[in-house]
Amino acid sequence: MSIDFEIPSEAKAIREKVRKWVQEECIPAEKELDTKPLAEVLGPLRAKARARGLWCPWVPKEYGGMGLGPLANALVQMELGESMLGALSMNTQGPDDASMMTILAHGTEYQKEKFLKPLLNGDKRICFSMTEKAAGADATGMQTTAVKDGNENYVLNGEKWFSSSASVADMALVMAKTDPNAPRHKQYSTFIVELPNPGYKIKRNVANMAIEGPHDDVLHGGHSEIEIRDLKVPADNLLGGEGNGFAMGQHRLAYGRLRHGMHNVAKAQRALDMAVAHVTKRSTFGKLLADRQAVQFMLADCASELYIGRLMLLHIAYKAEKGLDIRQENSIAKIFHAHMVHKVIDTAIQLHGALGFSQYTPLAKWYTQVRSQRLVDGPDEVHKWKIGKNVIKAFREHGTTASAAGGDLL
Ligand SMILES: Cc1cc2nc3c(=O)[nH]c(=O)nc-3n(C[C@H](O)[C@H](O)[C@H](O)COP(=O)(O)OP(=O)(O)OC[C@H]3O[C@@H](n4cnc5c(N)ncnc54)[C@H](O)[C@@H]3O)c2cc1C
Repeated sequence: MSIDFEIPSEAKAIREKVRKWVQEECIPAEKELDTKPLAEVLGPLRAKARARGLWCPWVPKEYGGMGLGPLANALVQMELGESMLGALSMNTQGPDDASMMTILAHGTEYQKEKFLKPLLNGDKRICFSMTEKAAGADATGMQTTAVKDGNENYVLNGEKWFSSSASVADMALVMAKTDPNAPRHKQYSTFIVELPNPGYKIKRNVANMAIEGPHDDVLHGGHSEIEIRDLKVPADNLLGGEGNGFAMGQHRLAYGRLRHGMHNVAKAQRALDMAVAHVTKRSTFGKLLADRQAVQFMLADCASELYIGRLMLLHIAYKAEKGLDIRQENSIAKIFHAHMVHKVIDTAIQLHGALGFSQYTPLAKWYTQVRSQRLVDGPDEVHKWKIGKNVIKAFREHGTTASAAGGDLL
């Protein structure tokens, strides 16, 4: 008897199809971005992806997606992350996908028809505005308010900070306090806001440490600071009912964490491949770098980290397929993948020497981008705090911490 690591043939086939798609279409198309406008690259790429049935991987078939379950989706996302055009080509890019997930799960028929449909069709983009200067890791510190104005509208006032892709979005999910007297986690609601809107004013895209690439302004926009002043939102645009904003936000962030992890595995894999391609060609002091044990050790460390990262995702996917609670594993994996990708890219830069530090490979850009992974969707320390509490709880309940340390099924 053994654990069956054989991937079901259907999932394997779709992974092969996506792998081919990324390697043969997306990665070569990246070069075109140097000379062509984004629409001329992404438009035809998306049309081709769709024609091959590669579109919105986890979205149910009745909504036009591929209807993949957690395992097949994880395998697909682990391929897509190798190219900056991968997820975009199949309309499964963050932050849009997590918001699509929220509207799909909690939207009314009207909201699905009016807002979700164009998102799923790839005609529109959406951003998520939760964080404020006053409140990030502890989102319950949000100050933005939503006050009902008769039965027709809510009026929102406040500010938001680091709303990714707001400047390229056609709509935003905005969280605001609807009931200051409710229990802490029931005070907030989420609204679908159509953009542009005079009440939702992008003050600036916040300059940050990530190196910009061609078309980033249109591809991802920036991370915007937003002034919300007398923003009128129709009551029909309240998503999921009053007081449910916080719970819905956590649900979307949970998927975002996993998707980041999957893309991080893919990115780390590409970085390791690049490192090996380099050291198998480059000689110093009369010997190929690949033949140096010190270099082999560096590659071994990266391979080990990638192996752990992959196994974590497969274990989480397995639990998700069975409908089991994945919160503890998701937090552990979120931290691990954020550090893993940083470490592997760092090693790849080191082995490329000055070339790695230059902008002639994507490594430098990735290095500056992935640093944010330790902050977004909850910083390391907040996840560690939760993980640690669960470890103690498990010990108190079972006399061993195993169930909180990946051992619940083992
Ligand atoms: C690239 C990027 C994209 C983002 N995109 C979005 C987006 O689209 N929408 C959105 O709403 N937000 C977004 N954010 C915001 C992100 O969710 C917050 O930055 C994150 O939640 C941390 O909040 P903060 O920055 O206010 O840090 P704070 O809450 O001020 O925390 C600062 C630091 O304090 C430490 N800390 C906090 N709490 C604890 C604790 N309990 N115990 C120990 N240490 C602790 C951590 O080290 C933490 O990094 C984005 C951020 C970045 C960097």
